[in-house]
Amino acid sequence: MRRWVRLLVFVTAFAMVAAACGGDDTSDTTAGGGSDATTTTAGGGDATTTTEAMTDDELIVGVSWNNYNEERWAKSDEPAIQAALAAAGATYISTDAGSSVEQQLADIEQLISQGADALIVLAQDGTAVLPGVQSALDQGIPVIAYDRLIENPGALYITFDNVEVGRMQARVIFDLVPAGNYVFIKGNSADANADFLRGGQQEILQAAIDAGDIVNVGESYTDNWDPAVAQTNMEQFLTVNDNNVDAVVASNDGMAGGVVAALEAQGLAGIVPVSGQDGDAAALNRVALGTQSVSVWKDARELGAAAGAAAAELAAGTALSSVAGTVQFDSPGGNSMTSILLAPIPITQANLDVVVDAGWITTDALCQGVEAGSVPVC
Ligand code: BGC
Repeated sequence: MRRWVRLLVFVTAFAMVAAACGGDDTSDTTAGGGSDATTTTAGGGDATTTTEAMTDDELIVGVSWNNYNEERWAKSDEPAIQAALAAAGATYISTDAGSSVEQQLADIEQLISQGADALIVLAQDGTAVLPGVQSALDQGIPVIAYDRLIENPGALYITFDNVEVGRMQARVIFDLVPAGNYVFIKGNSADANADFLRGGQQEILQAAIDAGDIVNVGESYTDNWDPAVAQTNMEQFLTVNDNNVDAVVASNDGMAGGVVAALEAQGLAGIVPVSGQDGDAAALNRVALGTQSVSVWKDARELGAAAGAAAAELAAGTALSSVAGTVQFDSPGGNSMTSILLAPIPITQANLDVVVDAGWITTDALCQGVEAGSVPVC
């Protein structure tokens, strides 16, 4: 596919490597400032030579990551995508935009110029990324909106049911605190997931809010889902409410960590229930310790596997509508998106065995500092 582009890239890369290393290094890594593109031949094969490039029919899938700050992306999603592409005989190339909208647009162009036959995009900003996605589609390169919505019905949207994640978070917190002062720590506003989650939370809590049982005493988006920002926001909500906060609906585990640190400083950790999502190791440990009430687990290995397999199919020319397991998802922007929606699972102290049995976390990591016998798995 697009062999002339690949040939040009490989010739250039070969010349660069030859110039830098005396021509005897076969590694295939192209430097790109803050957004290095790395190329891995699927299946762990060695770097492609120029001769191979001329005859090579191999499909290339380019992944544009927005950042690796969150534990899940590099630890779970990326290896699963790589494994699925390897199984399909496709090559994985990637960039990391370092949370920059501009960098992500440049990255998409770069992945295309490297010969990507399909793109998987974890959008930093679902709106700002639109021109890059349209440009890829215009060039006949299929795009997967990975985990986060991109409002272009030409893209395949692969994610978990994020509204349900929000409902699951709120259900656990509401069971523990049916009445009281609630704080909402939301995700990055440019990520559609932030509002999907908040919408699901509201569905569960609406009746109690209307009845005056639950009072919203603080709500904020969190730039880049940054735990430090979440901690600062939580500190402020505690201050303005004289610590009269009874529950915190935090939208992911990283931010829950910041929230728990703020509660800890006031002697409230383990007293005020806190939610999260992702099944981060530190968060599951907090669940075992009792300082976090729930982490909604999304098995990112399954998401990565689904995206990798779909990307390989699309790269080979399969139509969006023919990808197995798709449903139509009506987006807030009025688009009917061809989608694959996976199911999340709430993890509390009662079912920590689920993540252990799934090989997601070891009991050593899960039970660190946990009093033996205080929860079933520890
Ligand atoms: C993902 C979450 C993740 C967050 C921050 C969201 O779009 O759905 O799993 O914690 O981004 O990276």
